[in-house]
Amino acid sequence: MSQSTVKLRQPIVVVLGHVDHGKTTLLDKIRGTAVVKKEPGEMTQEVGASFVPSSVIEKVAEPLRNIIPIKLEIPGLLFIDTPGHELFSNLRKRGGSVADIAILVVDITEGFQRQTTESINILKERKVPFLVAANKIDRIPGWRPLENQPFTISLKSQSQNVQKSLDNYIYKLVMQLAELGFNAERFDRVKDFTKYITIVPVSGKTGEGLPELLALLAGLTQHYLKTRLKIAEGPAKGVVLEVKEEQGLGHTIDVIIYDGILRKNDTIVLGGLNGVIVTKIRNILLPAPLQDMRVTKSGYRAIDEIVAAAGVKISAPGLEEALAGSPLYSVDTEDRLSDVTKTILDELSKVRFSKNDS
Ligand code: GDP
Repeated sequence: MSQSTVKLRQPIVVVLGHVDHGKTTLLDKIRGTAVVKKEPGEMTQEVGASFVPSSVIEKVAEPLRNIIPIKLEIPGLLFIDTPGHELFSNLRKRGGSVADIAILVVDITEGFQRQTTESINILKERKVPFLVAANKIDRIPGWRPLENQPFTISLKSQSQNVQKSLDNYIYKLVMQLAELGFNAERFDRVKDFTKYITIVPVSGKTGEGLPELLALLAGLTQHYLKTRLKIAEGPAKGVVLEVKEEQGLGHTIDVIIYDGILRKNDTIVLGGLNGVIVTKIRNILLPAPLQDMRVTKSGYRAIDEIVAAAGVKISAPGLEEALAGSPLYSVDTEDRLSDVTKTILDELSKVRFSKNDS
């Protein structure tokens, strides 16, 4: 547990990149690792997102102690389950994005493609810091995979030719990033993480490099985004990922809560097709672990409150016309109600206005 007095929340991580460069495979590998390495009773599955607890990051990064010394102050990392820019565009918030950091996945053998550059432009516009996962290193000719090992260890066991080949590929990425105006380096050669984009060689297939990827995501966010990650105890702020009709629950919304605390019976305000929706939460729901007594018919488990950051399902009356991508606020006073109503209307007008930007 942390010695520090400031409590930090888990950073929200998104995965972007060109089609077929391995976003889904990498996310699956990360989720799989979390499930296998978590402590008994630790939850990893949320709604629309997966939680990788710090205990897991510490376990997988253990062999790296001397290279990336991390003492984690954040409780873990929250990965948005759906990769790609379509969902990312729904993670909008005033002045930026709900995402705290992004992984830009690039197939190391193919280099930058159209959607790689598009992703960078979107990240720049929303001011989201990112690191590059140079993926599919196992496809470098002659690569001998060492399953789930740190890149640093696996690299040492490769032939001189393969090591050289890897560096040529990395150099190409460095050049492509330079063309877009970024300084970039392989993570173990970066001297100043505020000035350089970090490139982490990985394989979503073999799991190589995952220890470094997780350790760097955790280390960089807790070091450089401290102010942003401070836990606020006030009303919840979130964004609607999806609107879904669920059997037995009616219309529900899947929401990423990025700040504050959301409680059962809270009044929430969000955007709808015909203006602002004000409603009272009936249930806050999480996926149910097997054999849980509080499971609803739908396979969800109702909880009393949730602290940011988290992905939850909300059931409440009047959500038929809820809008995906809308901001969501919980309100405790009349004053705040009129304030957030104004904010939401303002935000929605901007979303409609810039619908074609993603
Ligand atoms: P996405 O479109 O970016 O989500 O890409 P996918 O995760 O669906 O991967 C596209 C293809 O590349 C699939 O056939 C994957 O099995 C393969 N793939 C993904 N990651 C790796 C990797 O690290 N190594 C190898 N050899 N293949 C990979």
